[in-house]
Amino acid sequence: MTSALAPYAAHDDQTRGRRHAEPKPRYRTEYQRDRDRIVHSTAFRRLVYKTQVFVNHEGDLFRTRLTHTLEVAQIARTVAGQLRLNESLAEAICLAHDLGHTPFGHAGQDALNECMADFGGFEHNLQSLRVVDELEERYAAFDGLNLTFECREGILKHCSYKNALALGDVGERFVNREQPSLEAQLANFADEIAYNNHDIDDGIRAGLIDVEGLAAVPLFAELHGEVLAKHPRLGGRRLIHEIVRRMIDHLVTDLIESSTARLHESGVASIQEVRTQRQFMIGFSEETARANQALKSFLREHLYRHYKVRRMTTKARRVVRELFDAFFAEPALMPDEHRASGTRREAIQGPAGRARAVADYIAGMTDRYAILEHRRLFDPSERT
Ligand code: MG
Repeated sequence: MTSALAPYAAHDDQTRGRRHAEPKPRYRTEYQRDRDRIVHSTAFRRLVYKTQVFVNHEGDLFRTRLTHTLEVAQIARTVAGQLRLNESLAEAICLAHDLGHTPFGHAGQDALNECMADFGGFEHNLQSLRVVDELEERYAAFDGLNLTFECREGILKHCSYKNALALGDVGERFVNREQPSLEAQLANFADEIAYNNHDIDDGIRAGLIDVEGLAAVPLFAELHGEVLAKHPRLGGRRLIHEIVRRMIDHLVTDLIESSTARLHESGVASIQEVRTQRQFMIGFSEETARANQALKSFLREHLYRHYKVRRMTTKARRVVRELFDAFFAEPALMPDEHRASGTRREAIQGPAGRARAVADYIAGMTDRYAILEHRRLFDPSERT
C-alpha cells in the first residue's frame, strides 16, 4: 500500500534500518514488524498493571497504561490515515511510547528520578528506548527488539543535549535541532488527545471532578451545550460520553485540518525535508491549541492535584524510594537476573552501574508487584 502514502510520509523502503541487520520481513512491512515485536514484548504486557492516573486496584474501570496506549494508537492511526502517513509506524511508536513508565505513573517516575539524581537521573521516555534497545530479552543475536531507526526515533520524544550526544543516531536530531518523522510528531498529539479526554472520564467516574466544574473549560462547555441542545434530557454517563467523544472528534479534526494546511503551505516533499523544518508540521490551530491548554490546566489543577490523588502519589513515591534505597544498599536482595544492568550484563561497576540496575528493576515493576516487593522487604511476616 506504499503508493498511497504521501511523499513526506515514512516510506518502508527508505528506512534507515535496524541496528543489527536482519532479512526483510516476509509477510509484513518493516514497521508492522516493529509493531508486532512491541506487542509481543514483556514490557507491553506489564502495561496492564501500571497506573495511568488511578492506581490499578482503585477500580476496574479506570484506564491503565495499556488501555491508554491502545487509545493513543487508535487516534494516531486515524490521523495518519487521513494525512496519508505511515499508519503502521505511527501505531508502533504509540504502542511503545509508555513502555518505560515506572509503576504508579508520574509519581513513580519522579521518585525514581530523585533517587537517580547522582547517577544520570531517570526519565520514562529514555527508559522506553532502553527497554526496546537493551532490556527486552527475546533474541539470540541481540539485546532488545532491534526496531527500526524511525520507530526508535519516535519513541525518544524529548532528550537533553547531554543524553542526545550519548545516544548516537536517535539523538542526532536533538543535537542538530531537526524534527522527527511526521508519524513521530503525530504520536505526541495522539497521546495528549487520549489522556486529556480519558482523564476527564476517569476523573468524573472517581468523583474527583464533575460536569459543573468542567463548565470552566470552554471546549467542554461548548460541546456540553451542543449535546444538550440535541438531547435535552440526557444525563449520567451517556452525557459525559457524548461530550467526550465530541471533544476527541474536535481535537482530531483540527489536528488533521491544521496539519494538512501546514504541510501544504510548507511544500515539504520528503521526509528529509520534514526533518530540516524549523518546527513541527503536525499540530493544532492556534485556537484549538488554546482550548486544549485550558483543558490541561483544568485537569492539572482539579484532578492531578486533588488531595486524593496526592495521597496515592505520596504513598507511591515512598514505596519507590524505599525500594530503591533497600536494593541500592544491598543489591543481593534483588533476584539474580536483575543484578546486572541491562542484558549486556555489564558488571555492576561502581555506584552508577548499581543504581542503574536497581532503576531498571524498579521501572519494570507493575504497581502490584512493587507493592508486593515492598511488603516482602519491609514486612517480616510476609514471605520473601
Ligand atoms: Mg502516554
